[in-house]
Amino acid sequence: MKRLTVKERIRITKRGIQILKQYCPGLAGRKAVSALLAAVQPLVSVWLSAKIINELAGVRRIKQILFLVVAVMVTNFLVSLFKSMVDRIAEEKEAQMWNFFGKVFADKAMSMDYADLEDVKILQQKQAVSENLFMFGNGLGQLVWGLNSLVNAATNIGLSLSLTISLFLSDTGSDVMDSPLWIPGIALCVALGGIANSRATREENAVFEAWCNNTVWFNRAFHFFGHVLPVEPERAKDVRIYNQNRAADRAFQKMKEREKETAGHVLRMASYPALAALVVGIGNVICWVFVVLKAYMGAFGVGSIVQYIGALGKLGTGLQDMMFVLADNEVYCGHLQGLFDYLDIPNHKYEGTLPVEKRAFCNDGDTDYEIEFCNVSFRYPGAEDYALRNLFLKFKIGERLAVVGKNGSGKTTCIKLLCRLYDPTEGEIRLNGVDIRKYDYDEYLSIFSVVFQDFKLFSFSLGQNVAAAMEYDKEKAEQCLKKAGLSGRLKTMPDGMDTPLYKDFETEGVEISGGEAQKVALARALYKDAPFIILDEPTAALDPVAEAEIYTKFNDLTGDKTAIYISHRLSSCRFCDEIAVFDNGAVVQRGSHENLMKEKDGLYHELWTAQAQYYGIAENS
Ligand code: ADP
Repeated sequence: MKRLTVKERIRITKRGIQILKQYCPGLAGRKAVSALLAAVQPLVSVWLSAKIINELAGVRRIKQILFLVVAVMVTNFLVSLFKSMVDRIAEEKEAQMWNFFGKVFADKAMSMDYADLEDVKILQQKQAVSENLFMFGNGLGQLVWGLNSLVNAATNIGLSLSLTISLFLSDTGSDVMDSPLWIPGIALCVALGGIANSRATREENAVFEAWCNNTVWFNRAFHFFGHVLPVEPERAKDVRIYNQNRAADRAFQKMKEREKETAGHVLRMASYPALAALVVGIGNVICWVFVVLKAYMGAFGVGSIVQYIGALGKLGTGLQDMMFVLADNEVYCGHLQGLFDYLDIPNHKYEGTLPVEKRAFCNDGDTDYEIEFCNVSFRYPGAEDYALRNLFLKFKIGERLAVVGKNGSGKTTCIKLLCRLYDPTEGEIRLNGVDIRKYDYDEYLSIFSVVFQDFKLFSFSLGQNVAAAMEYDKEKAEQCLKKAGLSGRLKTMPDGMDTPLYKDFETEGVEISGGEAQKVALARALYKDAPFIILDEPTAALDPVAEAEIYTKFNDLTGDKTAIYISHRLSSCRFCDEIAVFDNGAVVQRGSHENLMKEKDGLYHELWTAQAQYYGIAENS
């Protein structure tokens, strides 16, 4: 990993604090107050205790002694009370913080360009950030603890310095013991411990970091084989049939072998703090001898020994902690930088600002508005071949267009481009003559209702799935389910619209068949009530009766909306005003069924004849 400069670390830390403020407001602040109180309490006790002992060993004023004892008790009580109140609130926030860190990651994933989800380089980056989230909270967790330690260390240093100053100002009468050279000497003894500890931490971190990088593959393998493969119902079927758990056993075996190779890291990591402890011990002994000698030579009372030893000890720990904080900052800044690189991946789709004139899509007789593919070519990220080549396609609002063609001819790709899941590699798609990239993305998307071939439903209630929202209009959702042909099944659902689908969250969730799911997806598209409705193989999972029902009701389903209907079942497309025939990423024919059938050499005729033989349909049926 590239070494970060101090300036970069300050910039990264500041941005990390901004994210903490945004996602977990109050957490870092409360932890800092708690850290400050944790540092103040023992030092105030040391200071007051020293005063009590000095009083006992000196003039022994009973009133003064009582006052000091009460002061120790009251300050301890108040600081403890306040600290535990702050701690309780901070603990609650801390328990949630990993979820909030997950939200930082999820928010970015949600707003990313869809095309980036398939870009291998970005996928690797995303994978690395999500693994880092799992292990280090992307540096954000370390930042919370780092800030906590920073406040604690700074308070310890500040307070213990103020309690130590008089150690060097008190005279013994001996030139040697009163020499100002003791100031840098003692400072060096205290600082040496800090330096040794910080070096130890840096070495330890480097070994740990290398070890973690070594185990990335195993984490991935175990996440997949241990958490994904055996429990995801779609995969669990195949795992059982093909006994794929053997792959997991192999990965486990490999990890055990690797563990032996990496066992040395534990010994190396353990030896660094031990060496540092030795240096700290030597420094402490020198400090103690100096303080005791000064007291012995009459510079101060016996109580002050407690104060100076306590304060020097705390100064040492404060310095060590500060070194830890700085060494740690370098490590988590690296993790944070990885997160920021990921968050800074540009989202091109959000660059457009033009509002979409929704009135344009009402069928109010004004059909001047149209969508046009102008010489569009498209290659998927990382793919060598074009999925669409020089595509020209124009359709007007209110039209029903069927898109047919062999598998892989580019039908779905054309829809993905229309919905701006991808942007064309060359050429442009225009809405009313304006490149669709110029429109506000969310507004532009709001004009489409799409049922993709590989649609997904969610583990919410049936009604929430239809509405794609937590709150919804029940009556409207029921109407949409009825239109999609699911009213019979709705009656058998134990809680009607409130019945949870699938069992991910609710044990009483209902598993529905592929065909039923397709109807729910259709109902969801109808509920959105967008002016454009696009159905990509909407009957693929339906039985022949349900399929026929959808065709006969198609006009009713789509109303006066613009409809694009993709199918490889040609007989199902005849209710559309026009049919566009795709081949090899381009539209090769376009027209009504009757006209296309007249072109005997055309692809449509060829496909129709092939299907007619298979399904037993007459040419003119
Ligand atoms: P259709 O819908 O007509 O069956 P598609 O539009 O799905 O065809 O696919 C057109 C071409 O693009 C095919 O060659 C397919 O393999 C390719 N393709 C589809 N999706 C991807 C993808 N995500 N990455 C790379 N190539 C893809």
